[in-house]
Amino acid sequence: MRRTPPLIVGGGPAGAAAAITLARAGVCATVLERTTEAHDPVCGGFLGWDAIAALKRLGIDAQALGAKPITHVRVIAGKRQAEALLPHPAAGLSRRTLDMTLLAEAAKLGVDVRRGVTVRRMEDGQIHLADGAVLQPESLFLATGKHELRGAARGSGKRERVGLRATVPAQPDLAGWIELHLLDGGYAGLLVQDDGQANLCLSIASTRLAAAGGSPERLIAMLATEAPHLAARLSRTATHWSAIAAVPYGWRTRDTVAGRFRVGDQAAVIASLAGDGIAIALSSGIAAADAWIDGGPEAAPAFQRRFARRAAWPIGAAETLRHASERPALAAPLLSLVATLPGSLGLAARITRIGV
Ligand SMILES: Cc1cc2nc3c(=O)[nH]c(=O)nc-3n(C[C@H](O)[C@H](O)[C@H](O)COP(=O)(O)OP(=O)(O)OC[C@H]3O[C@@H](n4cnc5c(N)ncnc54)[C@H](O)[C@@H]3O)c2cc1C
Repeated sequence: MRRTPPLIVGGGPAGAAAAITLARAGVCATVLERTTEAHDPVCGGFLGWDAIAALKRLGIDAQALGAKPITHVRVIAGKRQAEALLPHPAAGLSRRTLDMTLLAEAAKLGVDVRRGVTVRRMEDGQIHLADGAVLQPESLFLATGKHELRGAARGSGKRERVGLRATVPAQPDLAGWIELHLLDGGYAGLLVQDDGQANLCLSIASTRLAAAGGSPERLIAMLATEAPHLAARLSRTATHWSAIAAVPYGWRTRDTVAGRFRVGDQAAVIASLAGDGIAIALSSGIAAADAWIDGGPEAAPAFQRRFARRAAWPIGAAETLRHASERPALAAPLLSLVATLPGSLGLAARITRIGV
């Protein structure tokens, strides 16, 4: 039976990975991406070893893009800290570079990448664009990340977290490290990325940002007592912050209808503390494309169930770690314990990977 190539809404890592996989099998999909050029969304820029391997499968060498190697993790809670070697080398790469490279690779393979095109809503299987055009795809890949498409929104999911991102000058002792600062109601992550800057990402309870009057600068100032190491790092702090609200950590899509594949954050949202969202985006994009190549639009429900099962363990492990780490009464003694158990931090990093 002749099939029409899928329509992919969203040109982040998930949408691009699906497009590249389809194109390598001779199916040239269309990708609709609302932004007009690559930018740095709210993301820590940590590429786990599984993300690096998934990129390799897509024909992209993270190192050749200038990704900075990361071999160690340092976790800090108040005045306590623990350090460990990661089980495998990871890397720091800006999302601007990653997203731009992935979409360029897709376009090179013949994918019709349309930037600056926003999908407004979905109604009766039809896709309505901001310019009034209406499309009726046989197969739709929903890769809009945490953003819901009107008419095709996911169910609930708890959404009490906000994400904040800024760049700060890199200090020499950050080279080779991912540094995680545990906070009451969240965490901050710091790493050096390809542009030589340190990427600072915060995920925090929305109530804490609200208590700081919605100002990231005031929030950072308020954190100084509970996170003195972080405050010291940020003494020459960032000026430009980007933010994302309503992050539904722990979400997994377990079902869908024929012809509708949810990939990336639309499929599963892992706590960002684990640094595996990009790997999940790439792996789900690849797996959905493989499923479509084998079974066409009808393959969507089975793919979605399979991927939800595959994501269950890393997401569950990451949720357990998140709940423990964002409660100071638990985090500090836990960190003392971790410091005495060599390998425990590495184990935590290992069990929160989706794998390839
Ligand atoms: C605070 C924080 C820190 C994080 N740090 C890390 C980390 O260090 N490492 C890691 O692996 N993961 C991290 N993550 C998770 C990671 O950012 C996501 O899991 C990943 O971006 C998901 O990729 P995606 O392609 O599904 O969605 P996205 O990257 O969000 O891409 C979605 C794309 O769809 C487009 N789009 C949305 N709606 C429409 C529409 N209606 N029409 C057209 N286009 C649309 C958007 O413009 C965007 O380009 C972090 C997340 C947060 C919140």
